[in-house]
Amino acid sequence: MNYDAIIIGAGPAGSTAAIQLAQAGQRVMLLEKSRFPREKLCGEFITPECLNVFDRLGVRQRMFDAGAKIIRRFKLFAPDGRSLNLPIEWIADGHSQGISLTRAAMDFVLLERAREAGVDIREGLQVSPRLRQQDGLSFIEGKADGATVERFAASLVIDASGRNGVFSSQIPQAASRFEGSRVFGCKVYLRGIEDLRDLGELYFFRDGYGGLSEVEGDRVNLCFLTTEATLREAKGDRQRLLDLTLRTNPAAKRRLQDAVIDGDWLGAGPIIYGRRRTMPGVLTIGDAAAFIDPFTGSGMLLALSSGELAANVVNRAFVSGERNVETLTRRFDQLHRAKFGWRLRICALLRGLTFHPATRSALVTILSRSQTLMKLAARGTRQRVLSATESS
Ligand SMILES: Cc1cc2nc3c(=O)[nH]c(=O)nc-3n(C[C@H](O)[C@H](O)[C@H](O)COP(=O)(O)OP(=O)(O)OC[C@H]3O[C@@H](n4cnc5c(N)ncnc54)[C@H](O)[C@@H]3O)c2cc1C
Repeated sequence: MNYDAIIIGAGPAGSTAAIQLAQAGQRVMLLEKSRFPREKLCGEFITPECLNVFDRLGVRQRMFDAGAKIIRRFKLFAPDGRSLNLPIEWIADGHSQGISLTRAAMDFVLLERAREAGVDIREGLQVSPRLRQQDGLSFIEGKADGATVERFAASLVIDASGRNGVFSSQIPQAASRFEGSRVFGCKVYLRGIEDLRDLGELYFFRDGYGGLSEVEGDRVNLCFLTTEATLREAKGDRQRLLDLTLRTNPAAKRRLQDAVIDGDWLGAGPIIYGRRRTMPGVLTIGDAAAFIDPFTGSGMLLALSSGELAANVVNRAFVSGERNVETLTRRFDQLHRAKFGWRLRICALLRGLTFHPATRSALVTILSRSQTLMKLAARGTRQRVLSATESS
């Protein structure tokens, strides 16, 4: 069977696009290499604006049924332990709460919603980076559970396969290094941390930063970024890694003193920020199109919003009879830049300031003295600049 759209990757970007395309009557296939529910390296803080998208997808209540915890406040800690309070309203105008929920649960809710909307779903199928386009169709192939090769055809291929996008490639960027060393992410669940109810915490330390937030099952997500040099120095000893990273921050050291590690560590990297080079004729969404700095907590918002944008552009085009993929992807890329380009640029600027030893202390001091600047910085990481091209 030929589909209207084949989507690669069932993260928030892919599932969102799949749900909204299927709801508009398109024949959609969603291909995912893992089997759900699956763990994912992520801070698992879901910003307030995501709840609006969940409403449109019909899954807000399901996220709470799955155990989502409400987050109303954020606290930022400078490397010396000084802290700043950041109410959620400063991050997102008109919203008083975000949520925290494991990716195993959140992504599973979205996948099940896609199934319910009529999307054909194949889990355990890894798509290969080969694409052939002929007679108005795109042909791709993948391996089912690493063995049998299967082939699929659709009018349009949407790449939602995350930071190492199957059909997008990295644009080398100096900012993906910290003091010359590549940056990696780590995540683990903790128990034994009290008083985190409705509070998210973000700690900056010598060569990175990390966050704590409560998730379902009485566990706390600890997720942090650090450098390859520090990972080497820790030599695989997890306690030593915490000593070299989070626990160099006196406030985090106090916070983690009774913490007990619950489960396995997840790690990935190197982390490359910013836009990726997309393949002509493939519509690319979520992290596969651009990776935004995790400390902004905006990655999932960008994934959900770009999934919605893609569904909107494709539905309109298909209704009007437009099936030329080059035209369609060009139109989408323009809108993606207009809608998210500003946010990516602000994040790159903040990243430069936050991670440069000479400016990070000054930045924390300035922000702690000016509520207006603090609000502007927080909103800049997520608010978009309205533009005439955004009407679609
Ligand atoms: C350390 C860290 C902390 C973060 N913390 C937060 C946070 O607290 N809040 C926040 O909003 N964002 C956070 N993010 C960002 C967030 O995780 C991502 O922005 C988000 O997951 C992007 O969603 P996506 O759907 O684009 O991609 P993904 O969620 O990565 O989903 C891609 C899917 O594609 C599948 N896939 C990949 N390759 C193939 C293939 N070849 N064939 C088939 N399937 C494939 C994968 O298995 C995966 O399920 C963090 C990121 C990192 C690295």
